[in-house]
Amino acid sequence: MQVTHMNKGDGDISYAKNSLLQNKILSLGSSMMESAIDKIMLEVQPQSMGVADLGCASGPNSLTRVYEMIHMVDVVCCRMDRPIPELRVSLNDLPSNDFNLVFEMLPELYKKVNNVYGIKGCYVCGVPGSFYGRLFPNKSLHLVHSSMSLHWLSQAPRDLEPMVGTHINKEKIYISTGCSESVVKAYQQQFQEDYSLFFRSRAKEMVVGGRMVLSFIGRRSPDPRAPEACFDMELFSRSLMSMALDGLVEKEMIDAFNIPCYLPSREEVEHEIEKEGSFVVEGVEAKEMDWVSELSKFAEKIGYLAAKSYRAVMEPLFRSHFRFKPEVMDELFHRYAKLVDDCISEVSYKHIHWVFSLARKG
Ligand code: SAH
Repeated sequence: MQVTHMNKGDGDISYAKNSLLQNKILSLGSSMMESAIDKIMLEVQPQSMGVADLGCASGPNSLTRVYEMIHMVDVVCCRMDRPIPELRVSLNDLPSNDFNLVFEMLPELYKKVNNVYGIKGCYVCGVPGSFYGRLFPNKSLHLVHSSMSLHWLSQAPRDLEPMVGTHINKEKIYISTGCSESVVKAYQQQFQEDYSLFFRSRAKEMVVGGRMVLSFIGRRSPDPRAPEACFDMELFSRSLMSMALDGLVEKEMIDAFNIPCYLPSREEVEHEIEKEGSFVVEGVEAKEMDWVSELSKFAEKIGYLAAKSYRAVMEPLFRSHFRFKPEVMDELFHRYAKLVDDCISEVSYKHIHWVFSLARKG
């Protein structure tokens, strides 16, 4: 849990400087967000509105959604000719997230909120902790948002190491096209445990009529082994294995390493929502984004950029497990960049992003 945070600070390999794709993805849920705010204002009419962004990370994206939500609340209230409620905004991420960088940007936000929207009561706070568990008091939230965070699991599935020192996902770091059923089952079980806890926790924290807009990477295929769902992690497995061949990393360390993420299908997510029972799905959209064409707007050889984007997200995980020296870490992402450039014609870099809009039932 402590290592699924992003690279800190605002240096060259930080998340703050390498989250252009995520920024683009943030806008995918905008129309659902506006309609969620509309319904909250109509049905709940809060005087004090609890808003939470789950997995806010650090850098420009952390406040992008907050700005957008405030703008939408302003627009909706103007349209309804209603006073803007007091806003209590909670920014959540893991305790190891670089919250300081986020807090440094708050004076700018308060200034804008005051000068542009004339909102007097807007209070932002940081809430460190895992969203796979309770974070907020009972019935304190009206609107919950999360973007690009819910494909992270709380931990790598325990069952991938059924007994100390035995590993069932050898030479791979995630589900792969030819992997065994037990690898898939282990990941699915962890996903179910985590999502069930997620919905149970939010059900307690949200008021009746509250809305959640969640977007995360997923897959269309029912099979988690479909290439659309695992090709990019496969390229990491290959990079690591080529380093093992050159004696830069022990193969056993790769056998023991599994990325704590899962890209669910629509049905898997809906199943967890139904099982928990407190939310109704008001809308689901599948947004396809071609990461290669997005990245190629910024550089010709996209391998380097892809590697930098992934490094900002995954370096803490690799560092904590492999304890790579800086030059070996550089080598890993160098090999990954080369593989991406070599494979660009053979793999599709189209990712599916699910956007779910949910309402807390009465
Ligand atoms: N929403 C941001 C950040 C996405 S990166 C954006 O769109 O750019 C994913 C974030 O989720 C990271 O900052 C990571 O630390 C956080 N995260 C992962 N697992 C989490 C968990 N269980 N609880 C809270 N935050 C988590």
